[in-house]
Amino acid sequence: MIVNIIFCGGNDGPQGPMSFDIGEAFMRFLRILTVMLLPFLAAPALAQSAPIKVVATTGMIADAASQIGGDLIELKTLMGAGVDPHSFRQTRSDILALMNADLILWNGLYLEAQLEPLLLDLGQSRTVVAVAEAIPQDRLRSHPEYEDRFDPHVWMDPTLWRIVVLAVRDALSASYPEGAAIFEANAAQHLAEIDRLAAYAQSSLSSVPEAARVLVTAHDAFGYFGRAFDFEVLGIQGISTASEAGLLQISTLVDTLVARQIGAIFVESSVSDRNIRALQEGAAAQGHAVAIGGELYSDAMGPEDSYEGTYIGMLDHNITTITRALGGTAPEGGMNGALTP
Ligand code: ZN
Repeated sequence: MIVNIIFCGGNDGPQGPMSFDIGEAFMRFLRILTVMLLPFLAAPALAQSAPIKVVATTGMIADAASQIGGDLIELKTLMGAGVDPHSFRQTRSDILALMNADLILWNGLYLEAQLEPLLLDLGQSRTVVAVAEAIPQDRLRSHPEYEDRFDPHVWMDPTLWRIVVLAVRDALSASYPEGAAIFEANAAQHLAEIDRLAAYAQSSLSSVPEAARVLVTAHDAFGYFGRAFDFEVLGIQGISTASEAGLLQISTLVDTLVARQIGAIFVESSVSDRNIRALQEGAAAQGHAVAIGGELYSDAMGPEDSYEGTYIGMLDHNITTITRALGGTAPEGGMNGALTP
């Protein structure tokens, strides 16, 4: 209403250039001020938006940011369910979101291979944090396929993921110091859940008979998982889905399945199951029946708004599925009884 009065009342007669009128000058000032403030007066939504805009590359990192940042962040995730980060390429709207972000969180360790040049470039003008690179190098797995590079699939080991969660908390606090106390409390709560998950993983997976502790999957995403829970991991494809050169001989793997009487192999949500099916057929031709033990979430979480679409749910699903398929004991509903049947 005040806006209208100023607009209507300001222009009530011609003023010659020589006649200086202090009232008119003040009115002009008010009009300019009103025009400047108008977008804010007209858009109450702006006042309610979160203090900082955060973009996360993978769903796992976005989940950590969401658990810690809550309402204090406006969050966009670039890679949804079923998206393969190794081959992900940004769309125009992704670039827009990245350019508008106050803080960009990515995994690093060459996971987002195609996106990396753009992220490094954006790092010149805003805060861009490779959260997995907060893990000390002596706890990372090196890989013969990638000289001078490390296995990027760190979310598979909850004790490593803790370090990433702390890095997300610190990045949020640095970007918005006013929220630091809230971020700290939220992170502590989330870390307690991760510790509970790690304990559940240990107790479930150790119930799998020792001879059956072999995890055959489509690509080599489970190296940290195997190291943490004492499983031998055989990925048909290498550490990145982009390299066909990393393909292990299907026939060699078939021989291993038959010789060790491995009962189940696994498909992955973000990788084609072509090779896993070939393996199953190869073993069947030698008279050894191998079951598909289930679909594991390797590089992307489950559907949005599902339990499996959270970090805890994603790992709970993997732990429970692997345990049950390979002859161990775990409740059907998983750690929280929340798994989708
Ligand atoms: Zn991968």
